[in-house]
Amino acid sequence: MSEIKSTKMLVLGSGPAGWTAAIYAARAGLNPIVVEGIQPGGQLTTTTDVENYPGFRDVIQGPWLMEEMKAQATNVGTEAVWDHIMEVDVTKRPFVLKGDSGTIYHADTLVIATGAQAKWLGLPSEEHAKGKGASACATCDGFFYRGKKVAVIGGGNTAVEEALYLTNHSDDVTLIHRRDSLRAEKILQDRLFANEKITILWDHTVEEFVLDGDPQALVGLDVKSTKTGEVSRVECEGAFVAIGHAPATELFTEQLKIDGDGYLWVEPGTARTSVEGVFACGDVMDKHYRQAVTAAGTGCMAALDAEKYLAEMEFAEKAAAE
Ligand SMILES: Cc1cc2nc3c(=O)[nH]c(=O)nc-3n(C[C@H](O)[C@H](O)[C@H](O)COP(=O)(O)OP(=O)(O)OC[C@H]3O[C@@H](n4cnc5c(N)ncnc54)[C@H](O)[C@@H]3O)c2cc1C
Repeated sequence: MSEIKSTKMLVLGSGPAGWTAAIYAARAGLNPIVVEGIQPGGQLTTTTDVENYPGFRDVIQGPWLMEEMKAQATNVGTEAVWDHIMEVDVTKRPFVLKGDSGTIYHADTLVIATGAQAKWLGLPSEEHAKGKGASACATCDGFFYRGKKVAVIGGGNTAVEEALYLTNHSDDVTLIHRRDSLRAEKILQDRLFANEKITILWDHTVEEFVLDGDPQALVGLDVKSTKTGEVSRVECEGAFVAIGHAPATELFTEQLKIDGDGYLWVEPGTARTSVEGVFACGDVMDKHYRQAVTAAGTGCMAALDAEKYLAEMEFAEKAAAE
């Protein structure tokens, strides 16, 4: 027989959004369960220095921050479960979720905080360069490349926004794009073309992230012309891959409204999804900001919205019984 766990609130995901939702829900007496997934702690566990999460005067480490969030959530009454959800049914109440462990979860409310993963080029040298100069987030890491040469790879809105953002820190930004035109919105392109700090390298793909020194650090990118096949080097100490993100929505595509870019739809200004009692927070519903602090902020919103929903349901049930 499978174990059945019942809860007033099940939080799916253990990044900043999930733990923040759990902290608020636990303090409201909802005894939430957080299912941590295959990446306990979420994306911040894949980085080292975090300098922009408020409350810390010194640089902190991503994995440490996530341990602290988990400890805070469990200290106030959250149950953390190491499991990965394979199936979800939000068409009946309570909602039913099946874990990889065999456990079945029954939840009165569901908070989805499954995050998103940045897309990478998939080169072995890129993997090696992560944390040594290769990044997928200029807002997070741009500051570390103050006054240095940097490159951005991509041609959509994100790539153009990242290139423009990086000019706050660097006077020498190269945007590398495999085609001869950009997919980004016209207004962004106009700002890009007008910015003298940015050079565009059209019709080139990245072949290799080149590391050197001891300790090893990025010194450049070997790029190949899609027209001539010629390989050349773009010198840079930071390379930002900006070819998009993949929000983790595959469990919900048939049951919840998804926006045109694949993110979970929420009613503007709330964490409410298209199904009553199901809430979404963090990178899985946010294609604009994608920061730990905004994920935490929307995690708080999801818990408060869920708490209000549960109180209204309870009130309606009592009124109906009288
Ligand atoms: C390398 C790197 C560096 C970064 N640096 C910074 C920084 O310096 N400052 C900053 O503010 N932001 C930074 N970010 C961005 C930040 O990490 C994200 O915005 C934030 O983690 C999003 O939080 P989240 O809770 O929405 O989701 P995530 O952190 O993506 O967590 C998602 C969670 O969902 C779980 N999950 C997914 N599917 C399932 C499932 N089916 N069942 C159960 N669980 C599931 C995963 O296991 C994971 O725990 C960085 C990101 C990266 C990749």
